[in-house]
Amino acid sequence: MSLPIQEDAWPDQDLEPVGRCPVCGDGRRAVWREQVTDAAFRAAPGRWTLWRCQACETAYLDPRPTAASIGRAYSRYYTHAEPAKNFLVPGDRPDLRFKRAIHLSHYRRDYGHPSDEAFPLGWLAFAWSPWRRARAGQFIRHLPAPSTRADVLLDVGCGDGGFLRVARALGYQARGIEFDPVAAATAQREGFEVFVGGVDDAPLPDAGLAQVSLSHVIEHLHDPVAALRRLHQALRPGGRIWLQTPNIDSRGAERFGVAWRGLEAPRHLVMFNAASLMTALRHAGFVDMRLMPPQLDAAFYIEQSTAMAAGLDPYQGDRGRRRAARREGKAWDRDALKHPEHAESITVVARRP
Ligand SMILES: [Zn+2]
Repeated sequence: MSLPIQEDAWPDQDLEPVGRCPVCGDGRRAVWREQVTDAAFRAAPGRWTLWRCQACETAYLDPRPTAASIGRAYSRYYTHAEPAKNFLVPGDRPDLRFKRAIHLSHYRRDYGHPSDEAFPLGWLAFAWSPWRRARAGQFIRHLPAPSTRADVLLDVGCGDGGFLRVARALGYQARGIEFDPVAAATAQREGFEVFVGGVDDAPLPDAGLAQVSLSHVIEHLHDPVAALRRLHQALRPGGRIWLQTPNIDSRGAERFGVAWRGLEAPRHLVMFNAASLMTALRHAGFVDMRLMPPQLDAAFYIEQSTAMAAGLDPYQGDRGRRRAARREGKAWDRDALKHPEHAESITVVARRP
């Protein structure tokens, strides 16, 4: 399916001005990207401007769709009918038993997860490879072992429950919040408690959660700091939050400009670099912010951004483009391991004091 870029404007009455930085409130700013279109999904009309806050470096769309109208921008968004099977869930992938056994050995040694099935010296496969450690850590979102079987993990924007299945396999009571009722129903069929809606209206416990994760969610929120404050309140003291979001200081953001896949206007309303994400967390009351080893995802950003820069639909695959992106992506990922502050996406953890 190849769809034209929508040339209409987003209706005036459905736009709101922002004026000052949604993270720190400062009004000093400069235009960062102009004339950004929804070249990824071609679902939303409009040409958008992103401003960069000169105080905290956050980038934000202004004007932007109102909360009441933003749903229109998601009309062609991807959702999945089946949760992805993975090697960590017992019974999912019997063919990947060995992969599971060596990972469990690494997770036992580096993350404290107890396991009878770990291959005794499996961790050695990771000890010499920052690449493998980064991949394995990202796969479990750097989750430490739960302190009891009653520990609750909340995944905000849980989609079809792919990560809920991983968290359950690691011994957590896993719950989700998800906007898309079709994706939420898939997770619910797997036995997960999923609230259909947003962070603002989800019922949350007071100081009851052990873990919260948000993968590519924070950039979609109108008021990210308010959402982080709510999640902070819902975490128990010592509880941990994990976030991943596209990085406005990435190599791809610089190379591809308005065609960078991470921009995704007008669905991405507030965008971060490592420092500004930590500022947002600090404003919400979190402490001990840490930038984690990156998701090694440069090939995806390069492939899609290259297509978008050429005016093509990034979801129309092209073998040559994919091969070139894989090659270059590997080199970018290797650099990102040394400089995670320039990876295509940033991963940050913090905790409630
Ligand atoms: Zn700011």
